[in-house]
Amino acid sequence: MYRTHTCGELRIGNKGENVTLAGWVQTIRKFGAITFIDLRDRYGITQLLFGEELNKQLEENPPGREFVLQATGVVDERSNKNPNIPTGDIEINITEYKILNKSAVPPFTIEDKTDGGDDIRMKYRYLDLRRNTVKKNIELRYAVNRAARNYLHQQGFMDIETPFLIKSTPEGARDFVVPSRMNPGQFYALPQSPQTFKQLLMVSGYDRYYQVVKCFRDEDLRADRQPEFTQIDCEMAFVEQNDILEMFEGMVKHIFKEVKGIDYTDKVERMTWEDAMWNFGNDKPDIRFGMQLLNLKKPSSVFTDKDDNASLVNGADFKVFDEAETVLAIAVPGCSEYSRKQTDELTEWVKRPQIGMKGLVFIKVNADGTYKSSVDKFYNEERLKAIAEAAGAKPGDLVLILAGAEERTRKAISELRLEMAERLGMRNPDEFKMLWVLDFPLFEYAEEENRWVARHHPFTSPRPADIETMVNNSPVIENAAEYLKHPYANIKANAYDMVLNGNEVGGGSIRIHQKELQEKMFAALGMDREEQQHKFGFLLGAFEYGAPPHGGIAYGFDRLCAIIGGSEVIRDFIAFPKNNAGRDVMLDAPSSIDEKQLEELQIKLSLKNDL
Ligand code: ASP
Repeated sequence: MYRTHTCGELRIGNKGENVTLAGWVQTIRKFGAITFIDLRDRYGITQLLFGEELNKQLEENPPGREFVLQATGVVDERSNKNPNIPTGDIEINITEYKILNKSAVPPFTIEDKTDGGDDIRMKYRYLDLRRNTVKKNIELRYAVNRAARNYLHQQGFMDIETPFLIKSTPEGARDFVVPSRMNPGQFYALPQSPQTFKQLLMVSGYDRYYQVVKCFRDEDLRADRQPEFTQIDCEMAFVEQNDILEMFEGMVKHIFKEVKGIDYTDKVERMTWEDAMWNFGNDKPDIRFGMQLLNLKKPSSVFTDKDDNASLVNGADFKVFDEAETVLAIAVPGCSEYSRKQTDELTEWVKRPQIGMKGLVFIKVNADGTYKSSVDKFYNEERLKAIAEAAGAKPGDLVLILAGAEERTRKAISELRLEMAERLGMRNPDEFKMLWVLDFPLFEYAEEENRWVARHHPFTSPRPADIETMVNNSPVIENAAEYLKHPYANIKANAYDMVLNGNEVGGGSIRIHQKELQEKMFAALGMDREEQQHKFGFLLGAFEYGAPPHGGIAYGFDRLCAIIGGSEVIRDFIAFPKNNAGRDVMLDAPSSIDEKQLEELQIKLSLKNDL
């Protein structure tokens, strides 16, 4: 037997027991004739005391950092207790020990605050995983996984595996492809998600399916994406939107309870996509704080039922506002006393290329009820007051206004809103707020091709009220400049995203389950019959045999774990992640393959650009 206990287990109640521990040497401290070694394993750290008799042996056969050690001795009370660790009251008075394996000096310290940079820790990920901080994330990931599975199991969901070597699935990214040796010249695609399989399972009658499953998307990696990532993928038959929303907010509440001990009793808010864009400039608003947008200009685009407040800014001869497509404001609480330096710094912040604004207008609502603004010249106190009040500003607040092209300005003000909240400490990682965003546009306009593309994926059903509009109108866009006037521009999807603290953590939809409507959808996306058959013949075929109404959702598991863990870096919650260039620097993958492998695949490489 290698050990009687783990390094996190022994307490004062074990005093006097003879025990054997095994683990890694964290630190060695010599004090004259005695030596202390902190021994670490997955469960914790225990202090070992090597007395005089063993010291000679230690000198002859000294362990070093990260050596694997087995040590036997008697549990004793420590004179110098450490209240910071659960085993801090005791130490083991060692009678014999054995070095089970030695270790090279690790390239960085295996401690919570390590001296190792990102790259080196990725290269030696197996060492990084020994660190407490990383281990906690991996443990949290398992806890979230377990809680989700338990909940889904209780609700009658079945975990059914679906294949990885498949034909392309359209989730909007590029596929990773795998050459087939047995079918030379042909390729499998790795699934971007099990979307079509889970729908087929509904046709087969497995009316509650889930899978914690890898998905593969060959995207240009933005900061926080991984080419392979994990989804909690779910599908249900005989459901309407509300059934799904209730089922899955239940799942996330269950996860909060199990993993964080949080009773999430608040009602989960539901917001249309239009409201989210209008009030927050963003389809995944962080609603832990207010600072909603004031729209000061009639927007050009898709807001169907909104009125602007243009009269508040019009007619003052202020060209910047007069000529801008959009003018948007937020009231930042308690910042009216910002100095010139601070407002200049904010102006520089919005001018950064990532934000891309030309400038920033502000109105200070002073505590004494007076107003000071960078556009005093154009707007008198009365008008400043009207704008500030419409933005919801109170005395002591600072109103920030951006003007410019619709999309960019909306994005910029939404970033500014988050930035100000961050600076004001309003984005507390320990506070959680779920939100459903509903009624996304079903289609997006692809300018280069002058056609419609699916915003989510082509299996998403229109809202019941919009089905007729889709069926009764041709998708052809006669006048590209006026695509927004096409009836398709306003068709909303029966789709939903779950947003948690300003992050999209899940998304799904009620699906199309009628063959004719699915064909109409494919046609709307520019697929002729032949292409439909070639790509999705299996699904259209299945829809001929009694497809039930169905819908589902998939959660980005890595991101969900990161947010529950109070971080936004998903890499930290994956045991073996890839770096920002999609490389596994530990394995050094991707890499070239043997000539022999290529030959078997009957593939001859001829790269367009010389490497
Ligand atoms: N398959 C979709 C996705 O990966 C999710 C869903 O519609 O269930 O985004």
